[in-house]
Amino acid sequence: MSVYRAEYIWIDGSLPTNKLRSKTKVIKSGEEPSIWGFDGSSTNQAPGDESDCVLKPVFTCPDPLRGPEDILVMNEVLTTDMKPHPSNTRAKCARVEKKYSEFDMWFGIEQEYTLFNGVQPLGWPSNGFPAPQGGYYCGVGSDEVFGRELIEDHLEACLEAGLEISGINAEVMPAQWEFQVGPAGPTAVSDQLWIARWLLYRIGEEHGITATLAPKPVKGDWNGAGAHTNFSTKHMRESYQPCIDAAEALAPKHKLHIENYGSDIRDRLTGQHETASADSYSYGVSDRGASVRIPWQVARDQKGYIEDRRPNANMDPYVVTRLITDTVCGAAKK
Ligand code: ADP
Ligand code: MN
Ligand code: MN
Ligand code: MN
Repeated sequence: MSVYRAEYIWIDGSLPTNKLRSKTKVIKSGEEPSIWGFDGSSTNQAPGDESDCVLKPVFTCPDPLRGPEDILVMNEVLTTDMKPHPSNTRAKCARVEKKYSEFDMWFGIEQEYTLFNGVQPLGWPSNGFPAPQGGYYCGVGSDEVFGRELIEDHLEACLEAGLEISGINAEVMPAQWEFQVGPAGPTAVSDQLWIARWLLYRIGEEHGITATLAPKPVKGDWNGAGAHTNFSTKHMRESYQPCIDAAEALAPKHKLHIENYGSDIRDRLTGQHETASADSYSYGVSDRGASVRIPWQVARDQKGYIEDRRPNANMDPYVVTRLITDTVCGAAKK
């Protein structure tokens, strides 16, 4: 009898930042991945005396690490009465996407992350620091970039899985990298980003390297790690005023967004290192010191998308894309 392997992936209840978990289900060929369960008392999602939680498959893709029949399965976590678990941020995201479907929201997310070898950023000297920032961003050469082999393996795996990765680059701090997912709708881009994160950690195992989404992995004069979130409504893709309106709509909701853009966000949004201060909201053309940037080519073309630069690398994309959709489309509908 032939079988295939389905890696069931879900988001746990760890605080303040949720973690990924996964386990394998062996399924008979020809059968679909079905509802499954897990021990919620081991993931901060249930008490020990009522430990069962439900996994509901919501997105599948080829598993680039196993055989050609094997798949990765993203899940929503439900309680045993089949309602979204309190830790389930996807269900709400899907609901808001549907509510504003006429806007046809697209998101492209730039996921920054940092590679570590034990407690040390990869390639950093064991006593002291590398040369100051300046030459590392999009650099080349073994004195400039660290971990290229892992990064290439990750990109290849994402493409084989069919994820909509649109690019990768080395970042400003040595051992820091970025990949971009999208553009795609709020729920789809978030499903793909979570899977891409899972693949990053998983492929890191093969290299003995850990990837972290910590927003400020090294204190001092080193860049933090963000998740710039680019977005457009269909109106923004057609003309310029809706792009300005979207940037304006985010202003009165600044505090709400900051509070939900990833833990320890104030460590990163200092007003230095290409960030705007967490205390104030601003937007501008080409301005990498603003909360929201209007790319220069969008100003030139008088249409396109804008970039919310505030989200931390450790943000939950289901939360961030839901909030932006709610704020921007809600204001446009008034
Ligand atoms: P940066 O110059 O800020 O580093 P990147 O090239 O890393 O920009 O990322 C730009 C992101 O914007 C990509 O993920 C891309 O898919 C996304 N993007 C492009 N056009 C749109 C659009 N119309 N709506 C939403 N996202 C978009
Ligand atoms: Mn980028
Ligand atoms: Mn970047
Ligand atoms: Mn950016």
